[in-house]
Amino acid sequence: MTPRRLILAQTSFLGDVVLTTPLWRALRDALPETEVWWLVRPDAAPIVVPLAGAGRVLVFDKRGGDGGPGGLARVAARLRALDFDVAIAVQRSLRTALTLVLAGIPERIGFAGAAGSPLYHHRVAHRGAHARDRLLALAAPLGVVPQPAPAPQLATDPAADAAVAALLGDAGVAEGEELLVVAPGAAWETKRWPAASFAALVRALVPGTFGRVAVVGTAGDRGHAAAIAREVDGVADRSPVLDLTGRTTTAELVAVLARAALLVANDSAPAHIAAALGRPVVSLFGPTVPAQGFAPLGAHVRVVERALACRPCSRHGSAYCPIGTHECLAGLRESEVAAAVRGLLGADAGAAPAPAGGVA
Ligand code: SF4
Repeated sequence: MTPRRLILAQTSFLGDVVLTTPLWRALRDALPETEVWWLVRPDAAPIVVPLAGAGRVLVFDKRGGDGGPGGLARVAARLRALDFDVAIAVQRSLRTALTLVLAGIPERIGFAGAAGSPLYHHRVAHRGAHARDRLLALAAPLGVVPQPAPAPQLATDPAADAAVAALLGDAGVAEGEELLVVAPGAAWETKRWPAASFAALVRALVPGTFGRVAVVGTAGDRGHAAAIAREVDGVADRSPVLDLTGRTTTAELVAVLARAALLVANDSAPAHIAAALGRPVVSLFGPTVPAQGFAPLGAHVRVVERALACRPCSRHGSAYCPIGTHECLAGLRESEVAAAVRGLLGADAGAAPAPAGGVA
């Protein structure tokens, strides 16, 4: 029987949410009569609202107002009121499974071997080379097996587009100007290429290969932006470095990335977002490796990494390098990254990237 209303419970990091969009898209396309809703963390809502519409996105603030057993019960009550008939637990946590049980959702799908798997009616093997494919398998119990597998795809929010157009316009960035974007942040310290390396890269590329560079990230990344600004010479009184760290909402970050001629980022959420917008991406991998299945997916993505016996040393990165050298990223030279940037630009010449900001 075709579900009437289905919830995709994905309360993980932004990059994981981006890699879940192919599952959402497969369900939407194969089950047009089904309302497909999202349950996400507050920071991920602006990512999925342009896809599903604000009316089909629910927020689970598990680290904030919805924390603890009381918060779990409140979220379950919100789900119960909406009378979902199918739930897909994208995450492998017991908390997610308990929430879906308390919500009284009669058909629950999740991964075999997950902490909450005894609470699922359908247990799907966690197999596949890439997270996108592992997640897509969760649609199989509903008879949905898309061929070929859809790629991650995002759309921008029109209000955020307008805000970013104004922000860039005020900074003298013309519509259509080739804008390099760099995202020096990452969730874990060991996944960060050093600020001095980002600065040296920008000095090699701006001005010249690109006219301007925008640095995106949180307020905690301001040191990187300052280091880059110190390294890059201005033209007359105009610095080519636009510091947007701590100045954009998530929706505006997506809109900035949609304007990027190319993004250089660590193994982090901006790399996934820009790739899903069809933008060229050079992503720098250190303690993690693409073979773990979490690399950004897109037609214009290059991963730069060093061949070291210690890699990978963790699944998601860590606060400290276990061997104390951080040579995976500290030893990555800006000339190698600049070569990857120029190589990607050359490969893309004549083959225009997908239009930014839209979803079919
Ligand atoms: S152990 Fe190797 S891969 Fe891990 S952080 Fe250190 S240098 Fe990088």
